[in-house]
Amino acid sequence: MIKGSCCCGAVQFELTEAPTLMGTCHCSRCRKVGASTLVFVKSDSFKLLQGREKISTFKAVPPYQYDRCFCSLCGTALGEVLSEQASFPLAANCLDSEVELENAFHEFVAEKPKWLHIGDDAKQFAEHPVS
Ligand SMILES: [Zn+2]
Ligand SMILES: [Zn+2]
Repeated sequence: MIKGSCCCGAVQFELTEAPTLMGTCHCSRCRKVGASTLVFVKSDSFKLLQGREKISTFKAVPPYQYDRCFCSLCGTALGEVLSEQASFPLAANCLDSEVELENAFHEFVAEKPKWLHIGDDAKQFAEHPVS
């Protein structure tokens, strides 16, 4: 079982299945909310154990499409944990358990600030990878 939580511990969750993919987004929005590295999880493997009432959502304004959930007590970015999609991005920073994944790609590298140097060999995309 993979466990995860926010910084203050109010929000706790577990994953019954390992995430499918890990990637890092360098867009200004991910950077500002402090959740650049994300893992993709299947909704039916995600179980919120406590803290539902502490989770706030910053709604995406078009053209952006991803809502941002965070703990209203400590501010930890959680990714899209309240998503109703079959799979959603979860902020890797809130995982407490190790996962057998490594960062597989960097996207929106064109928006990366100069002070950040990418230190792995994962594929880089100037914008969103076209799949
Ligand atoms: Zn918290
Ligand atoms: Zn982003």
